[in-house]
Amino acid sequence: MTTWILRCSACGHEEPSAARVGTCPRCNQPFLAEITSTPDRAALRPRWDIWRYADALPLAAGETPVSLGEGFTPLVELPQLAKDVGVRRLWVKDEAVNPTASFKARGLSAAVTRARGHGVPGLVVPTAGNAGAALAAYGAAAGVPVRVYAPATTPSPILEIIRAVGADLQLVDGHIGDAGKAATAFAASDGYFNVATLREPYRAEGNKTLAYELAEQLEWRLPDVVVYPTGGGEGVIGMWKAFAEMVRWGWLPKETRFPRMVVAQADGCAPLVRAFRAGAESATPWENPTTHAAGLRVPGPLGDRLVLRAIRESGGDADSATEDAIRRDTHRLASASGIDAAPEGGCALAVTRQLVDSGRLDRTSEVVIYNTGSGASYR
Ligand SMILES: [Zn+2]
Repeated sequence: MTTWILRCSACGHEEPSAARVGTCPRCNQPFLAEITSTPDRAALRPRWDIWRYADALPLAAGETPVSLGEGFTPLVELPQLAKDVGVRRLWVKDEAVNPTASFKARGLSAAVTRARGHGVPGLVVPTAGNAGAALAAYGAAAGVPVRVYAPATTPSPILEIIRAVGADLQLVDGHIGDAGKAATAFAASDGYFNVATLREPYRAEGNKTLAYELAEQLEWRLPDVVVYPTGGGEGVIGMWKAFAEMVRWGWLPKETRFPRMVVAQADGCAPLVRAFRAGAESATPWENPTTHAAGLRVPGPLGDRLVLRAIRESGGDADSATEDAIRRDTHRLASASGIDAAPEGGCALAVTRQLVDSGRLDRTSEVVIYNTGSGASYR
């Protein structure tokens, strides 16, 4: 059984695990869950989804998770592509095979499980696309009504999933920031619980499994570098939290060196890259965000401070790629691996290549890139 408290990531304000919280009432920054029990690596559950790690996740005593078989995604080694890029070893972790075809399933499985536990009347989310599809699916699985605010420019296969599972889809002119304002207003007026990225503490918890699985798939060790295509930042934040937990709990040896966390963004929307280069602790919103990698079109992420902290603490890096480079490397990733790469995965490969070519990523490195969604979502 897991026990935890909630702690503000900025001011340290604490709330009990039973509290239904959004952002911190004192400073409006994200809460994170702090697991106070010590899960045992030898006692993982015999199930093949994120709830294999249930003792490391915020699951109340006797509670059944809201699950659609998320996680446990393949880690595929790509020797030919490693040679092509110029690193020692290269893997892709393929999140396209999740329910609703993106990594967002992990966080929303955890967040909807907790929200159902709190008895919320409904769930609302602003989305660049994939999080809306995931929330719609998990809301349906939990029997909780869902409203999704998405840009009208969201790829139509994603919008079709949201409609198909019965969510109330509201199209918004503009980007996810505009959708966020509409979702906040609706949550305030109608009492729906807002599960926007890092506006509640539990999506980050589900995303920790991106790291637990990686460690287990590499026989309980970590790669040198993780390259993560980053929009709202919840993947990076969840993984960075999980690496520290695994060492604290004895899942990994004390002397384990954490991977360098590399944030990959698109030239047309790169607020975290710009802030990292400026040495800033937070990011200023990107003006007129444009990229065909819809998941990266997040101009003002709430988790900016936490992502920038993870990059700095890990000795990591951040870079952005052109639309042409993203297209080229999406095709290369798909054709070299046989996985249905999304533009976000192509962006991660393009940035890996740029960092190797410019000498910022060592050629002796073992690198894992994340393909966070599915190419089919964009066709
Ligand atoms: Zn606070």
